This record gives sequence, C-alpha cells and structure tokens, in this order.
Amino acid sequence: MVATQIPTEKVQQSRVDGVDWNNLPFGKIFSDHMFVSDYKDGAWSNDRIVPFGHFTIHPASMVLHYGQAIFEGMKASKLNDGTPVLLSPEAHAKRINASAARMMMPAYPEDRFVEAVSQLVRLDADWIPPAEGSALYLRPYMYATDEFIGVRPSETYTFCVFTAPVGPYYAKPVNLVVEQNYVRAVPGGTGEAKAAGNYAGSLRPAHEAQQRGFDQVLWMGGPDMQQVQEVGTMNVFFVIDGEVITPATDGAILKGITRKNFITILRDQGYTVTERVIEIDEVVAAYDAGTLTEMFGAGTAAVVSHVAALQYGEKKMVFPEVAERKVGPMLKKYIDGLRAGTVEDKFGWLVKL
Ligand SMILES: *Cc1c(COP(=O)(O)O)cnc(C)c1O
Repeated sequence: MVATQIPTEKVQQSRVDGVDWNNLPFGKIFSDHMFVSDYKDGAWSNDRIVPFGHFTIHPASMVLHYGQAIFEGMKASKLNDGTPVLLSPEAHAKRINASAARMMMPAYPEDRFVEAVSQLVRLDADWIPPAEGSALYLRPYMYATDEFIGVRPSETYTFCVFTAPVGPYYAKPVNLVVEQNYVRAVPGGTGEAKAAGNYAGSLRPAHEAQQRGFDQVLWMGGPDMQQVQEVGTMNVFFVIDGEVITPATDGAILKGITRKNFITILRDQGYTVTERVIEIDEVVAAYDAGTLTEMFGAGTAAVVSHVAALQYGEKKMVFPEVAERKVGPMLKKYIDGLRAGTVEDKFGWLVKL
C-alpha cells in the first residue's frame, strides 16, 4: 500500500515539555494528538489526526446503553538509536477486528490501522519516554454512536487511537486468589473479544479479592470450575519441571499477543511449551511435589507479572523469589530489550517508523 498522509490538524503548542519523565503515572497523561475515524453508511470515512480533546456524546448514544465497545492496548518505544518502533502492530489490527466481529461492529481495515498508529506515533514521537522498559502506550478503541435505544447493532461508530506515555513498569509480584464465585468468561461468551464490558464484569471480583488482601484473581472455567483461565487481565504461564505450560485458548481466553510471542521465544530457546487444559489440582500437586517453580501473567502493560503466592481455598502456595526464577525474568528482559533495540528482532516483530 502506498501510504497517504492522513489529514492532520496539529496543536498550536505541544504540551510535551511539561511532562515529568521520572514520575509518569499510568494512563493519566495523554499526548498532543489522536487519530479519529467515523463509520457511517457502511464505510469508514473522515480519517484524521487532530489535537487530543473531548468528544461530545448524545445521551442516547448506543454505547452508553448496550456496551458495543472494544479496545486494544499496544506500545511504541524507541530503539537506542532513537528510531520509534511498534511491536506486532498487525497482530493488534487483526485482533481488534476479531473483537469487532464478535460484537457486531464493523472491521477497520488492517492496513489503515497500521498506517494510522504509525502516523500518530511519528507525529508524537517526542512523547515516547526514553528509559528502557517505558513506552508510549497506544489505546485504539471503537464504540457505537447511533442515537437510538432500540436493541440492534449500531449503524455508526467512532474509531479512535490516543496515546499515553508510561514509565517502566516495575510490577511487584502479585498475590492471587483462585476465584470460586465469579467467572470472567465461558466458551461462546465474549471473553475472547477485548470488549469493554468484560472489564466492567471483572471489577467486583477484583474488588472483593482486594478486600481479602489479594491483588488479583485467578480466573477459572470448565464444567467444574477446575480449569485455569487467566490472571486478572493477563494470560497465565506455569513452569513445572522445566516445562512451560499455558492454558489452551478455548473460546473463553483472550488470545494475548504477549502470550503468543512468549511461546515463540521459548520454543526458539529450546523450551518445551505446552498449550493445554491445566486444572487447579495439578497446580497444587506440582506445588506439593516441589516441581512448580514459576507462575506469571503475560500482557502488554506489565509484560510479565510474577505471581508471589496463590491462595486456593485454605491452601496457600508461595513461589520462589523472583531472583531465583529463570523463565519470567528472561521473557521480560527479552521484550524490553527488543523494544530498545538491544535484542535482535529475529522474528520480524518490530515495525520501524
Ligand atoms: C489484553 C488482554 C490480555 C493480554 O493481551 P496482550 O495482547 O498480551 O496485551 C490478556 N487477557 C485479557 C483478558 C486481556 O484483555
């Protein structure tokens, strides 16, 4: 595709000089510009880059009532020579359209998605934080805008991408509890889509877990609620006897791009990686046998979130110190290094801008 310049209205004065790079709160500071496109009469039109700012919204706007809203989360960083890069943007473009299909929303063309995020990041490249492990977080999202309260798919939508600089995410290891009352998703539901409503539904369980002193829940599924699904909003990995195991995607598990990249990296390094059903009793048995050496979450935001301890009913499982772990720390270093240009991009995941 020959890229055309997206019509761009630039800010009069950038706000970038006011940013305190050493103190970046997650998701509260937004860069100068955003990309917007409107869907109507069966087509996306009026693609534009404009100053970051408010939308006005009609009270009957369908998204506010029936929740047709989906999103993505991805990151731009700078190589050590200063070149801005995106990691696996095509995978995010594909996934937002898979989410769109499930929620009866229109696809946004994948080449235009990649072009939109590329031009936006190029324009706001000064907003990419310099430190390794930090990034410019991109939030592509789509929502229904018909002014109508009948139940049917909206006929108009807004697709927007804005960006937010985020600091290096020194996530402290998390204490998890196996969720036995609530479910995040079931096969055939919307759990495979990055749908806004999935997150709304997870807030009550997360809150109750936090009240009991945990950081997040381990989601369970399967006929007897015995099968491990995900941790909070991340995919989950276990290392048992040197083998890396992650739940197979069964229609209830979000197909994480970090998850997929981890599997590729691990297999390339000679690890045995198995995608299959993993039941909580097996986790307990491996823990008791001393063969369960690592458990971690995988996602774009934190990359790796180490699990410090897992509570299952009365049973508390405490895992080795992060310093004693191999797989999770290696993956975190690999992805951070890839984004900074210090690790070779042998799988061709980076797109240089
Ligand atoms: C976004 C998300 C993930 C992680 O996906 P990545 O592509 O790796 O960021 C995992 N689980 C859920 C429920 C998610 O929404």
